[in-house]
Amino acid sequence: MTLQRTKEILSDLIAFETVSADSNLEIIHYLTDFLTALGARCIQTQDATGTKANVFAKLGPEMDGGIVLSGHTDVVPVADQDWTSDPFQMVERDGKLYGRGTCDMKGFIAAALAFAETLDAKQLTQPLHFSFTYDEETGCLGARNLVDDLSERGIVPDIAIIGEPTEMRVIEGHKGCYEYTTSFIGLEGHSSAPDDGVNAAEYAARYIGKLLELRQVLKSRAPSGSPFEPPWTTVNIGLISGGVAHNVIASKAEVAWEMRPVQSSDADLVKRTLSDYVKRTLLPEMQAVHSAANITQQAVAEVAGLEPMDKNAARDLVAELTGANGTGVVSFATEAGLFQQLGVQAIVCGPGSITQAHKADEYVEIEQLELCCRMLDRLGRRMTA
Ligand SMILES: [Zn+2]
Repeated sequence: MTLQRTKEILSDLIAFETVSADSNLEIIHYLTDFLTALGARCIQTQDATGTKANVFAKLGPEMDGGIVLSGHTDVVPVADQDWTSDPFQMVERDGKLYGRGTCDMKGFIAAALAFAETLDAKQLTQPLHFSFTYDEETGCLGARNLVDDLSERGIVPDIAIIGEPTEMRVIEGHKGCYEYTTSFIGLEGHSSAPDDGVNAAEYAARYIGKLLELRQVLKSRAPSGSPFEPPWTTVNIGLISGGVAHNVIASKAEVAWEMRPVQSSDADLVKRTLSDYVKRTLLPEMQAVHSAANITQQAVAEVAGLEPMDKNAARDLVAELTGANGTGVVSFATEAGLFQQLGVQAIVCGPGSITQAHKADEYVEIEQLELCCRMLDRLGRRMTA
């Protein structure tokens, strides 16, 4: 029975200690071997260090389109968490399976593999893909690499189901999460002669002023009927640092900020406006005094949002498979937005609750896995019709 197999496979997956900081190659080998044995063609993509990899597998006919079941292999750390049992050894208690990643999100991966075993690949009328990635928890780095590779190879499936824990609800949207650190390098000097220096703190303040102006613009751009709370793209100034004393012109300043876009055009607008402001206004003024003055920006994370769309075949399909009588949005970011950018119709739907993720004694309810197995079983019947 598929549920029993899902539990067995999940137990294997939990035993791989795939905390994002560490290599995930062992689990990728396991997943690749598993799918290859079922007749899948697998593509691996690696990160620059060679210690992390994605696997993208295809079962079924050699044609375009098809459906992707997508999950990330990495998990959040267990350090400083008080676990009742070994987080990397799955334990069953009271209808729940405990272990790091049971809920976020190896439960879905296990269900997807158990489902693959039940299929006769020759009977598939369209391709079924499996996408298992690295470094989701640290900014969807693996998925970005994978989606770039798929784009280069011209592989654009029709539908992607991202199995993050939603208690099997159909989620058609989440905001993006873009985090930046902007650094200002000026020229130190005595505060009594402000024109002889370049005050990095003051330029940082003007930059922040521009961001706050944009915040108002973004409010007015909220799409009508936006399901998000709040319905517009938000901006947050999270950390400001710089300078050394009252009477010294600050030579360095740093601003850590983020935006959570409801639509990718908002993110583009913010990036373009700030970059123009830096290039045309701030930098020329700074460099007129001191040619080495500079403003640099580091993107800490750029996780694309999943924009709710009027037409979304993934939403319609999974709503039908789960019998959901409605869809929703969530406040956490996933890899779905990257698939959407590739041109794939995507939704998020998986077993377990996000409130059980990332904590000590993370668990998934067996009942949730059963619902997931049932959904996949129905999917299988649709794909082999
Ligand atoms: Zn996750």
